[in-house]
Formats: sequence, C-alpha cells, structure tokens
Amino acid sequence: MHTPQTLKETQFVIAAGQTRLRLEHGDSGTMLTHLTDAEGREYLRRPNVLWKIEMIDRQLKQAELDMRSSPPEVRRGNDQVRLTWRNVRIGKTNEQVTVKATIQLKEESGEIAWQLTVEDIADDWSVFRVHFPRMDLAVERGVETDAVIVPNDRGIIYRNPLESMPTGGIHEKIRRRPYPHGGWTMQFLAVQRGDQILYIGAHDTVGHLKTFFIGPDAENEAVYVHPYLDTEIHYGLDWAQPFQWITRLQRGDWYDAAQIYRKFALTASWTSRGPLVKGRKTPLWYQQIGLVTLRLMRGPGFEDEDVLAEHAFMGTPMVCHYYMWHQTAFDANYPFFFPAVPGFRKTVEKLEANDIHVMPYINMFSLDMHMDTWEQGLKGSAAKINPAGDLDLHVWSQNRTFATACQATAMARQLTTMTAMRLFDQGVSAVYFDEIAMSATWPCHDATHKHPAGGGATYVTSMNETLRIVREEATESNGQPVLTTEGCAETYIAHLDAMLAGNGNRPNALPLFEVVYHDHVMAFGRYTWTPELMDPKFAGAIESKHAQQFIWGTQFGWLDVPLSRVIQKSPATATFIRHLAHMWKHNYDFLAQGRMLRPLDLSGQLEPITRRWAMAWTDETGTDVPLMPVLNSVWQRIDGAIGVVLVNITAEPISLNIQLPSIQAQYAEAMKQGIPFVADDATLSKFYPLPQRTPAEMRMMAGDDLVKTIAEGDSERGFAVTIQPMSAMVLAMGSEKFYGTH
Ligand SMILES: [Zn+2]
Repeated sequence: MHTPQTLKETQFVIAAGQTRLRLEHGDSGTMLTHLTDAEGREYLRRPNVLWKIEMIDRQLKQAELDMRSSPPEVRRGNDQVRLTWRNVRIGKTNEQVTVKATIQLKEESGEIAWQLTVEDIADDWSVFRVHFPRMDLAVERGVETDAVIVPNDRGIIYRNPLESMPTGGIHEKIRRRPYPHGGWTMQFLAVQRGDQILYIGAHDTVGHLKTFFIGPDAENEAVYVHPYLDTEIHYGLDWAQPFQWITRLQRGDWYDAAQIYRKFALTASWTSRGPLVKGRKTPLWYQQIGLVTLRLMRGPGFEDEDVLAEHAFMGTPMVCHYYMWHQTAFDANYPFFFPAVPGFRKTVEKLEANDIHVMPYINMFSLDMHMDTWEQGLKGSAAKINPAGDLDLHVWSQNRTFATACQATAMARQLTTMTAMRLFDQGVSAVYFDEIAMSATWPCHDATHKHPAGGGATYVTSMNETLRIVREEATESNGQPVLTTEGCAETYIAHLDAMLAGNGNRPNALPLFEVVYHDHVMAFGRYTWTPELMDPKFAGAIESKHAQQFIWGTQFGWLDVPLSRVIQKSPATATFIRHLAHMWKHNYDFLAQGRMLRPLDLSGQLEPITRRWAMAWTDETGTDVPLMPVLNSVWQRIDGAIGVVLVNITAEPISLNIQLPSIQAQYAEAMKQGIPFVADDATLSKFYPLPQRTPAEMRMMAGDDLVKTIAEGDSERGFAVTIQPMSAMVLAMGSEKFYGTH
C-alpha cells in the first residue's frame, strides 16, 4: 500500500496531465512560482502568494492571516497534495488558525482542482474574504494571438489584452467583476497563448458570491487573476471552500473553454430542469416567437394602434416588452408600480387577442430613497447593508442613485411576488424583471435580516426562491407564464425563460453563453439606436445586428426606435426583420432549442466586410465592425439532428460550399495513411457528430411560405448553396442517433 509522505518542504513540484506547478516558501510566504505545460512553456509572469485570507471579529475589526512564519507541511497522496500551514496568526493578534490547501490532480482530464479550508478559529473571529488561487499570467504586449476570453455578457474575447482590456475608470468597482452579474455571467475565464488555452473556472453548483478580480497589468506584461470569495460570517466556526477551482491547460480556443465549462454547468442546480425541449419550463408558444419588440414609452409611435400596425406588418405572433404601463415616472417610486395607467387592462386584452404577448417592465432590485414610505418600512427591512454598515447604493439608468433590495428579506420577496401577480392578473403573458441578472450582487451585512451576514449562497438561493414562488403562483392563475430578466447571469436559469443578452454591442463579442446554455434558456434583445435608422453612415447596422442575434439563436426586434417607425422610414429593413421572424417560426427546433456547436470557418471562401454600429445611447460616430458577408451558426437538436443557419447580410447573392467534416471520415483517412488519429477534446471539437456524407434538407422562405428542397452535395464533400441577398437559409441534416452510428 502507498504510504503518504508528510514533509516540511520549502520548494516542491506538483504535476497533473500536461500541467506542472512549482511552489516555494520564502520571506513573503508560500508563492506559486511556476505553471508550465508539457513543452515547458511558462504561463506565469511572476511569483505571487498562493492565498490571502481576511478575517473579521465581532467588533467588525478586520485582519489578514499571516502565512510567513513557517512553510506548509506537504502531504502527498496518489492523486492529491495537501498543504497545511499551522499556527497562522490573525494579523498582529495572538490568535492562530490552521489553513489547509488541497490540490487534487485529475490525470485523465489534466485538470487540477484547488480547495482551501480555515480551521481552529477562535470564538470571536470569522473568515471574511478568501483570495485563492492567485496567478499573475504572462501575456505579450502587441500580440494578437494572446487573448483573454471572459463571460462578460454573452462573452468577449480581448485579443492583445494588455491594450484592449478595460481597467479602472468610472466603473472600477464593477471591473472587479462580481459574480453573478451581467458583466460576469459564468464562473470561468480562459487565457489564450497561441494555440494553447489555460482554463480557470469555479465549479460551484450553487452560485456563491465571488469576485473575479482580473485585469491587465500592462507595465509588467501580465494579466492578474486574483479571484476572491466573500464568505458567510460565522464566528468561531471552521470554513471550507464549498466548491473547487479548476485549472486546465490544453490545445484549443474559446469554443473548447466553453465546452469544459458546459460539462460542469450541466451538473449545476440551475440546469436541473433540463433542456427547453423537455418542456419543464418555457412554454412552446414562447419558443416559437423570434420577435420581441420594445415599447419604450407612451406617445406617438408607441400607442396601441402603432403596436397593432407592427404586428400587422410582421404577420407573426410577437412579444411586446412594455414599459411605462404605470402612472409614476420611470425610475421613480421603486419598488411600487401600481396603479396602472387608465385602460391598461383593456389594452392588454386587445393586444393579447391579436397574438401580441404583453411583457411589462418591473424593477424589484432598486429601491427609491426619495419617497415618503422609504423611511417607513423599506429602509430597515428590505435594503442591503454593506460591510461598513452603510446602505448598499447603486447608480442606475438616468444616473440616479438607488438603495439595493436584499432579496433574502421577507419584505423584498412579498413586494416582488405581489407586483408580479398583480400584473398577471391584468392578463399579461409575461413579466420582465429589470436588473436581476444584470446588476452586481454585493453581500448584505444587515445583522437584523434573517440570513447570515456576508456573502455565500444566500443571495442567489433567495432570489431563486422568489422567482420559484412567482412561477408557481402564475402557473396556477395563467397556465403558461413567461418570466424574463435583464442580463444573463447563469444562476437564475432554472426559473427564468429568457434573458436580455447583448446589452453591450461589442465588436469582439463571442457566443460563449450560447455554447454553454442555449438549449437551456432563451435570450433576447440588443440595443439598436435611432441614428442607425436615420443616418446613412450606419447603413446596414440594424440588419447586421439583427442577423447576428438571429444566427446566435437570440430573439430580435428590440429596437430603441419603435418598429412602427422602421416600417415607415425603411421598409426594406422592416421586411428583413419580418423575414427573420418567419424563418425563426419554422426553425425554432434549432434556433430556440438547439445546442450550439462550433460555427463553420468560412474564411477560406469569404472576405470580411464592415458595418458601422452605434454602440451606446449617445454614440453618433459609431464603430466599424468586421463581419462575414454570410453569418453562420451550427446547431444540434436533442435527437441528434444538425442544422446550419446562414444569413446573407449583403445586397448580392453569395454561393458557398458548406462542409461539415465528420470524425469518422477523419479517422478513416488517418487509418488509410497509417498515421495516428489523436482524439483529444480539441481535435474532436473541430468535427461534427454526423455520419459521413449525410444529405441535407434546404429550408428557405418564398414569401411567407417555407420551401424545403434537397440540397446539392453531402456533408463531407460540401453542399453547394446560393444564399439570396438579405436572406436566411437553414440546412437540416439527419441525426447521428437516427443513423445509429454510435
Ligand atoms: Zn440582507
């Protein structure tokens, strides 16, 4: 039998798969000094201490643990290394704790799992904040093949990150990247170095609050990755990290990083209802609608007859995201919305009767401090308190400052459920909750609230419980309610049907969220601005933004300028949106229900074009965005069928050869040539799970009718297709499961 060794070492190496770690204990503490792959490539720019732990006492005095006094005991087992620091002092006090780090080696996947505990804590002290693991990663200045891939909104790739990744500025607090929040929607990131990626993720199935404190350090040519957890405050109790941090080095790119995370994400609490196609959440009527329009205010362009005219032009059912249904001003009196404007119930009845599903706006996240009732019940019983004992404030649209609702309070829950239920009682199909999956979730330290002070999982589980109650009660009264929110923080997927993704219009956006979650939750919306309709330099902006949403399986039509004005001012633009809406209706099996596979690389056949997009409310100048003239995405249905979606965003027809190389063909080719076929994850992700030479059905629109024909060619040698100007096409292929190849 293997006997674990226990040694007091000052330098030691830990290896798993391709990864080797080296740690050294010196005057500054225990440092992570090297992180290298199989070829010896170094991923760290400089050593940094492995952990930093902040403690708090009952008088709210904070102090850091001092790890310098003695090196850790190192205990090596077969598949893990345990480091134990004994007699670690709390700051300059005489109190001491024990800290243990477990570094688990998963040989098969090459993953390393990192976990920490703090034990033997005196009665007056609690763990407050844990920074672990900490890495200063090497990236080269001016190199476009180095990149940082982050789940900001749906996903962003920062190529040449030292120059492109934002830091500091007015959003510095947000740039600490709290999770869950629209700026950090999933718990991972990847750093690309050439054809290698370093994946770093928290595989936390519950959604404990954490901050991905990550950014560029241009001076030192490093990207610092210093994530930390705000813990629940429990005096005198041991603390154990309730999940593992995972690091993994492999060949690959953003898509492979998303696949590593997806494997974990399918075990998380928020995917427990299973994919949409199972029918345990989002009603089918909602999945079949591609068009979610925005009715932003009252007045010309937004009246009932305008919304009805939009519907008459589009000729499909639609969802209308309906603002200003209440008598109070926007962003005033929150969280109180009623009474509704006179006649609202009648309006809802009229629109719903015409297949326009009304989705009113509410905001139960922000609390208005400038109303009479603020002092009388909300302030003490529904608002969050920060660690300093002050109100947790946030600035929201129109630059107003709000208090933040603590979703773990009974008051916040009752206000939210009551407001949502009163709206469903008005006859609406859906309710939209602003900010929930968008705004930063900071810990609440109000000791009078009936939840543990600090971070932990309280916030996420409380919010989910509120949403669960709304869904359950609305299902009783309405049958098939739809609940949506702003932002796409993953933790609320189990209780929400659609998330407003694409709040930012970024040229470097990636469908990272779609690769991980598209078959589990729907997304809608993206800002499209009035100048894009009126100013010729933005020609094609609305069309290309919509085409990209469509390609990524995101509901579209959510324009700042009312659709009724687009129909009048630019009928061709409106006709294109109409075309996409009808294509969605006939292809929701892929566009709403499909799992996103790797998009096709058409760069051998097409040159990018540019479209100028307005990026924000006040952007009159715009940014040139490079786009392929034909956008594409590839989907897999739950029965295994594959769909390729293509949209031509130019005024010319474009002919292409669409190939989906199968693993079998590559394997057969390798056998024939007598060369080994390396079936690692990065290789497999380049191919498609199809039998060789699969035929395809070609789906196109002729007017309002879907026309299906057999495509010329096969999946291996390619389909010869011509995509008409400003048109979409779907190639649908039989399933691997159907053909029984696996
Ligand atoms: Zn609270």
